[in-house]
Amino acid sequence: MNYQLPELPYAYDALEPHYDEQTVKLHHDIHHKSYVDGLNKAEEKLQAARKEKDFGLIKHWERELAFHGSGHVLHTLFWESMSPDGGGPAIGKIGERIEAQFGSFESFRDVFSAAAGAVEGSGWAVLAWNRELETLQILTVEKHQDLTVWGALPLMALDVWEHAYYLKYQNQRPKWIEAWWNLVNWDGVNERFDQAMN
Ligand code: MN
Repeated sequence: MNYQLPELPYAYDALEPHYDEQTVKLHHDIHHKSYVDGLNKAEEKLQAARKEKDFGLIKHWERELAFHGSGHVLHTLFWESMSPDGGGPAIGKIGERIEAQFGSFESFRDVFSAAAGAVEGSGWAVLAWNRELETLQILTVEKHQDLTVWGALPLMALDVWEHAYYLKYQNQRPKWIEAWWNLVNWDGVNERFDQAMN
């Protein structure tokens, strides 16, 4: 299995002024690519270990698999969670469910923003539908190589690692979170929500 860095679904400068061209290019071409490369390397080493029945480094390569695999999946979701035509309140089925569960879109947004702002160090904020519990969940991830809630299917992702926003927003993560809401691709989130519900 050879994983490829997915093309961005828009131009590097398409998310300006909220997300600047230089950061998007670095974030996608360098940071995301290193997860794809790391995932391929881990797969290759695990395949070699299986063939040679030499599992001396299995713990290391399984960790590498989880770290780079999660990084690749979450970054792909992150790019797809934004659109040049995004932003505004949630629409469609996901909008209705958010209102039903959180009282209002504003109240959901407050919780998601607070959760993203409170993530220690590098991490993520994720909106997920938990198939087992039949509920939307706002999850925070501090080490994406660690286990998350079983059964949760990510619907959208906000990257709050410093490399995602530092060039434009420096240490002001809340400003990045605020700007990010102008980019959310609700059509894409709805598609994922539909798939997750079926
Ligand atoms: Mn990132």
